[in-house]
Amino acid sequence: MKLTVLGCSAPFPLDKGGCPGYLVEGPGGQVLLEAGPGTLSSLGSVRAYASVAAVVLSHLHADHMSDFLVLRYALEAVHHLGLRSEPLVVYAPAEPAALFSVLPYRQVVRAEPLDESRRVEAGGLSLSFLRTQHPVPCYAVRFEERGKGLVYTADTSWAESLVGFAHGADLLLAEATLMEREAALGGQTGHLTAGQAGRLGAEAGVRRLVITHLVPFYDADALRREAEDGFGGPVEVARPGLEVEL
Ligand SMILES: [Zn+2]
Ligand SMILES: [Zn+2]
Repeated sequence: MKLTVLGCSAPFPLDKGGCPGYLVEGPGGQVLLEAGPGTLSSLGSVRAYASVAAVVLSHLHADHMSDFLVLRYALEAVHHLGLRSEPLVVYAPAEPAALFSVLPYRQVVRAEPLDESRRVEAGGLSLSFLRTQHPVPCYAVRFEERGKGLVYTADTSWAESLVGFAHGADLLLAEATLMEREAALGGQTGHLTAGQAGRLGAEAGVRRLVITHLVPFYDADALRREAEDGFGGPVEVARPGLEVEL
């Protein structure tokens, strides 16, 4: 399994690449996880559009899904070129319904609603989901393949259920939107501090922690230090182009 970071700034891009977009590659293909602004220009090639095995949108906030609306056009083009014949399936929460309703597109995109009972097999990976604490329905994702686990928190404030969900993961990709001094905002905004991201990694006993969903005007080193205090070990900061092989 391999994670590639396409973009990790949120909730808007500045000068450090686009908003959340990740590729998770298994033995049978690539799952596109999130499609925030900038994802498609990082994805790069018509081949990538043709071969993506599935798309998972953790939730329907624009910083995680706006490029999906444009991906629909790319899919139509690759079908027209004969590079793909199967519709792409996008998994996303069914609410807000007005946003979910714009995901399916002609014959080329089919949308499937996410909930905690859903199990997805895509790209040779097994995916499971956990509802997070966020102002709109949002799901953390666990990818499993041959005994390796990658867990993505998506957007969330602190929730004990995340500890069990991330237990023993080889890699935790955790949002770290807030600095510790803003911890009081976590509950209202539905986000973790960098220190909480670190503590989540420690309590879940993960091997490796990468922090993401980075507010572009914060100092990434300061966020990393706060995450390392919580984790009790080295933490990596996501950046476009970062690849992690599991
Ligand atoms: Zn977000
Ligand atoms: Zn959000």
